[in-house]
Amino acid sequence: MTEKLSPELLERCVSIKANYEEITEKIARAAETSGRKPEQITFLAATKTVEPALINYAISLGLRHIGENRVQELLSKYEEYDLKNCDLQFIGHLQSNKVRQIVGKVSMIQSVDSVKLASEIARQSAMHHITTDVLLEVNIGSEPNKSGVPAEQLEELLESVSRLPEIRVKGLMTIPPVCDNKSDTCKFFDKMYKLFIDISGKTLDNVSMDYLSMGMSDDYEEAVLSGANMVRIGSRLFGARIYR
Ligand SMILES: *Cc1c(COP(=O)(O)O)cnc(C)c1O
Repeated sequence: MTEKLSPELLERCVSIKANYEEITEKIARAAETSGRKPEQITFLAATKTVEPALINYAISLGLRHIGENRVQELLSKYEEYDLKNCDLQFIGHLQSNKVRQIVGKVSMIQSVDSVKLASEIARQSAMHHITTDVLLEVNIGSEPNKSGVPAEQLEELLESVSRLPEIRVKGLMTIPPVCDNKSDTCKFFDKMYKLFIDISGKTLDNVSMDYLSMGMSDDYEEAVLSGANMVRIGSRLFGARIYR
């Protein structure tokens, strides 16, 4: 499969392989340190700006989950992903008017933060006769102009979404504020873990707290140590993003 790649891409494959092994190893160590098995942590690759040939190379190494951020980019790459052994998720901010373009194509939408968006996902899922898995995105740092539901409104959103039979809430996702040091980042991870555990103790229709999705290239080990069971890693795997 690598025969068709240009020398430039082949060179990137070499580093992707080394990065993949390093990340997998570090996730496994963080899992064990926090009393879990490596296979309990889901490694999702954030693939924005990455060409499908490189994504497929990572899949050939064992990657099983990829996530895109932009609807247009996802659609333009969709036919080229090798999804036999890998699932495709949506992890970016999603506008309601674009929902119909991805429902049925993605296995999970990680970025639900309003009843309006959830209702549109439910409506489109009903038209496809499917149910769609989602995570609720939490704006854990209460940052203005950032997507995600504020923690104080999470419960209300959860109750509304649990009334939509075409949606199953599978957990929570967050992108914490940018912090100067990791111990500050960890405070936000700890807050998320607490929310996750609190909600896990409740019984709500169509809600099961399977995933706590947090941690990216610079802080995925800390996230796992704080209780994340899904990390979303882009640049540490594929190298610095090249915007063309
Ligand atoms: C890009 C992105 C990531 C990964 O970012 P890196 O810092 O490159 O690992 C994770 N989550 C979301 C929602 C993203 O958009």
